[in-house]
Amino acid sequence: MKAAVVTKDHSVEVQEKTLRALQHGEALLSMEYCGVCHTDLHVKNGDFGEVPGTVLGHEGVGIVKAVGPGVTSLKPGDRASVAWFYEGCGHCEYCISGNETLCRDVKNAGFTVDGGMAEECIVVADYAVKVPDNLDPAAASSITCAGVTTYKAVKVSQIKPGQWIAIYGLGGLGNLALQYAKNVFNAKVIAIDVNEAQLELARQMGADLTINPIKEDAAKLIQEKVGGAHSAVVTAVARSAFNSAVDAVRAGGRIVAVGLPPESMDLNIPRLVLDGIQVLGSLVGTREDLKEAFQFAAEGKVKPKVTKRPLQDINAIFKEMEEGKITGRMVIDLTSH
Ligand code: NAD
Ligand code: ZN
Ligand code: ZN
Repeated sequence: MKAAVVTKDHSVEVQEKTLRALQHGEALLSMEYCGVCHTDLHVKNGDFGEVPGTVLGHEGVGIVKAVGPGVTSLKPGDRASVAWFYEGCGHCEYCISGNETLCRDVKNAGFTVDGGMAEECIVVADYAVKVPDNLDPAAASSITCAGVTTYKAVKVSQIKPGQWIAIYGLGGLGNLALQYAKNVFNAKVIAIDVNEAQLELARQMGADLTINPIKEDAAKLIQEKVGGAHSAVVTAVARSAFNSAVDAVRAGGRIVAVGLPPESMDLNIPRLVLDGIQVLGSLVGTREDLKEAFQFAAEGKVKPKVTKRPLQDINAIFKEMEEGKITGRMVIDLTSH
């Protein structure tokens, strides 16, 4: 089967691979779609450590083709996910307290184990989340990382109906953050992006205010227009966006960090203390979060914008991502095999 494999020189090669036999508790997925997340770009560039030989992909859905011994949660024919949270240890304090993505022995698809940007993928059945029947599989792939991550981040932001949430970065993640914030949490959304095309998409998706920080001081404008946001979710891969978010929230505000620029952010200590600001990191979502995120998409509250592409386009897609030419998500179509 064909797979997108990271090379030593930070590129990706489509290679022919043969998968090992299934072990206890595992399932084999015949992959249908796998989205290209900005995290895949970090992984192939070695931003989190070098991983040559690894199959990319953690935003995938596929159909169960076979199950190994002991599997009870999936059966052949089911549609299930390949997510960044591939497997936890199942018994540590994080795994048993609803914080399983923080498990210190976690495995991550497309990083520490082979992922779903391939014609076939082995998953741990109890960790692969079933996709609702009435959700389009290409759209479902976007929910598997971008959707669940932003759904969870908006949850962590504790935004209430009618309150203002600032979303920095309206790319693959950000446009879904906007939709969850508006259509599920009933918040008012401020969309901030350096790319006009993303702001146009944000307006089409119902953003209440859009700001291009190249043209205007986003934090200043948010303070002037709405008295500061109640929360901010930062998906932008830019340190300046994190710094702006700190200045954009009102007293008691929360900044939820999601994007992963390999840098540090500035945090003025008196601002943090005197204004009671909270800064929280949010990492993907649990299996339960993914189940909920799928359900809202199946109900039509969140509609991922996807463009289907062949596996051979993977390096071209990364180039487009670096150049900021993508709106919504590029999704590898693996249905032809
Ligand atoms: P993307 O490339 O699709 O989108 C990034 C967006 O940020 C683009 O629209 C870009 O124009 C915008 N942007 C760049 N500079 C900006 C600035 N200064 N201000 C405002 N907007 C700016 O990327 P994505 O797939 O949405 O991923 C975003 C980030 O989130 C990546 O770093 C990725 O690794 C990370 N991520 C984190 C998690 C998590 O669990 N925390 C999960 C998935 C992805
Ligand atoms: Zn991702
Ligand atoms: Zn654990």
